[in-house]
Amino acid sequence: MLTNFQKAMEITTGTSSVRDIRIERIGAHSHIRGLGLDDRLEPRANSQGMVGQGKARKAAGLIVKMVQDGRISGKAILMAGPPSSGKTAIAMGMAQSLGNDVPFTMIAASEVFSLSMSKTEALTQAFRRSIGVRIKEETEIIEGEIVEIQIDRSVTGATKMGKLTIKTTDMATVYDLGSKMIDSLAKEKVLAGDVVTIDKASGRITKLGRSFSRARDYDATGADTKFVQTPEGEVQKRKEVVHTVSLHEIDVINSRTQGFLALFAGDTGEIKPELREQINNKIGEWKEEGKAEIVPGVLFIDEVHMLDIECFSFLNRALEDELAPLVIMASNRGTATIRGTTFRSPHGLPVDLLDRVLIISTQPYSIADVEQIIQIRCQEEDVQLAPDALKALANLATETTLRYALNLISTAQVVARKRKSTVVETEDVRRCYGYFLDEKRSTQWLKEQQGSLVF
Ligand code: ATP
Repeated sequence: MLTNFQKAMEITTGTSSVRDIRIERIGAHSHIRGLGLDDRLEPRANSQGMVGQGKARKAAGLIVKMVQDGRISGKAILMAGPPSSGKTAIAMGMAQSLGNDVPFTMIAASEVFSLSMSKTEALTQAFRRSIGVRIKEETEIIEGEIVEIQIDRSVTGATKMGKLTIKTTDMATVYDLGSKMIDSLAKEKVLAGDVVTIDKASGRITKLGRSFSRARDYDATGADTKFVQTPEGEVQKRKEVVHTVSLHEIDVINSRTQGFLALFAGDTGEIKPELREQINNKIGEWKEEGKAEIVPGVLFIDEVHMLDIECFSFLNRALEDELAPLVIMASNRGTATIRGTTFRSPHGLPVDLLDRVLIISTQPYSIADVEQIIQIRCQEEDVQLAPDALKALANLATETTLRYALNLISTAQVVARKRKSTVVETEDVRRCYGYFLDEKRSTQWLKEQQGSLVF
């Protein structure tokens, strides 16, 4: 019998398998672990990788709270502020605070134009990636000691396969291993002799400990576990489990032409509106029956001024939809032309869209904040910076941008290593400043080269 989770994966057709699509952690923000707020949502001076920008972080914390309370879907936020002032960092902090279960999608507005699909399809996919469906159900749990694991190493990638022999109380059974189960075995570092539970619907394997003789100590039976007899007379151990998948994953897996492999390829092509409608109806039914819950997530659109007027009208309409995520847009523009028109407006956004967004502004950093951010990045990148070099980099950040200064950390380390030093000194920073242009010097250089370059 198919579980609800499996059914979601094949509402209209096909094979069932899902890959966890998590947000891509961008290296530049890997030091951000949250918004760095206390229980009262007050910003701590330096916490969870976050420094300064107190007002904006607090505002972001309030929004996170509203998302968690399910009170903000269909709204939009605009993060407005100068380049390198932490707009993306704060959005990443929000994603971290929301946790893994709440979908968070990040796109740069220009991506919408570069994909091999219409702009509105690209935006629809981004919207649906940002909506989770939490499917609750009982699943059969197998508990026992692993006797043998065989993985067929000749097959790689998505079609990894293998076999696993597991001994329950009085019998040994051989199960086929899919790629998900193999990943799960590797993640839990499961070896023969370990006592595990296997969730039959999702294939998730959980290690309870070693040695079957001690299995009683590790009894996985909890309040949410029960024994049921199937109509065939078999006694099964069942546990309530929750799977969260995005609407987009359900769309792709059910799309006849694409199939689930498209999820691995990343290019999913266009999905028919009728299919989406069918899926929405089914999910709606499950919601009514208490089998599924909608988890509105967050869609972050960076450089939003790069969208054009058609995309903006799409956004305006899509935000009205019952299944809309929280949309966070970011722009470092002041008054700019709305792309696709001759009109100018604040941040390059049409006034009707501006009217419905909550605006969070970020301010330029103080030199003390910049120094702390540089220090955090040095820890993250495992770079030892001499005190003078720190001052030099912080000064550079105020003259150029914070991002430029942060980029020089790792290059200066390479230069320091070349002279066999483990500590980055001012001289290493100075050299890198000479090797790599910042935006201002690059513009100046272009002006000087006019006439000799081909554009
Ligand atoms: P742009 O408008 O150019 O896209 P942005 O405002 O999105 O810029 P970020 O990319 O967030 O700027 O910031 C630049 C770098 O500084 C990133 O590596 C980011 O993680 C780091 N950073 C920015 N603000 C903070 C902060 N308050 N605390 C810690 N790190 C920060």
